[in-house]
Amino acid sequence: MHKRLVNELRLDFLIAPQGPLLIKSGKEAGADPTLLDMNFVRTNHIELGRTVYLPGSSLKGTVRSYCEKIGRTVGLEVCNPLSDESCGRRLERKARRASGAEIYRDLCPICRLFGHTVMASHVWFADAYPTPGTIKAVNDTEERDGVAIDRISGAVAVGPFQLEVVTRGVFQARLTVRNFQLWQVGLLAVALRDMADGRVPIGFAKSRGLGQVTLTYQRLQISYPGQFGQAGDLNFGANLYGVTAFGIEEDYGFFPEAPLPMPAPRQVKPEWGRITLTFEDAADIEALFKATVRSWADYVAQSAGG
Ligand SMILES: [Zn+2]
Repeated sequence: MHKRLVNELRLDFLIAPQGPLLIKSGKEAGADPTLLDMNFVRTNHIELGRTVYLPGSSLKGTVRSYCEKIGRTVGLEVCNPLSDESCGRRLERKARRASGAEIYRDLCPICRLFGHTVMASHVWFADAYPTPGTIKAVNDTEERDGVAIDRISGAVAVGPFQLEVVTRGVFQARLTVRNFQLWQVGLLAVALRDMADGRVPIGFAKSRGLGQVTLTYQRLQISYPGQFGQAGDLNFGANLYGVTAFGIEEDYGFFPEAPLPMPAPRQVKPEWGRITLTFEDAADIEALFKATVRSWADYVAQSAGG
């Protein structure tokens, strides 16, 4: 959608496994006798060397699926991205090439945030690597017996086989959201809160109790283009502003939103270039996220079942 960057939110946080965790690598053991049947995904990191990690695409996929579930639970129309009736497939079938605004208007709430085949995402998860102090603990993986469960019948299909799991250590994660509406931050806040409570497992064999994690918020940065603060009508120190505050003229069908007063306001010096607010107190970050849940609730109240 719009190419101009207006608001941006960046959250640095830690992910810690609370038990066995497995993000599968594409490589299965095959004929290599030194590999387990299912191995944790690894990469060559420029500073850490060869290490297991949590790919950003896996983290995003997990959070997206969970947000889809939340959306359906509250009665929103949410597409199934794998189905033929997904927003992406539907738009691909249209004869005429639609404009950015037309595409955006036509999307379900989840695709508006996470993107799909014909529109880029507003949400990015960076690859999460072990923190410097826990590289050894994270890479000191364990072997577990696994049994593959047939997803339809629930019968045991194959196995038992060996799984490589991470059980200790901490991963450094980063979430970035650009050109967001406040309700979208609220939805992400609900998903992160549930993940922090261990209710959103990640990776393989979630139904077998793997993938429990906890989150710790470290730093939240919110930034805006400075010239809007200079103009005087936006108070970046006191309010959180969604994309509609920045006068994007084309009709994207945005949900109308008032600025959200921040629970921990602060002084912001007007300047040219970008203005950035930094929160480094986990309680402040949680309070701000909690405030955005109201924006999500307002969106749901106006949009569900309609
Ligand atoms: Zn959709």
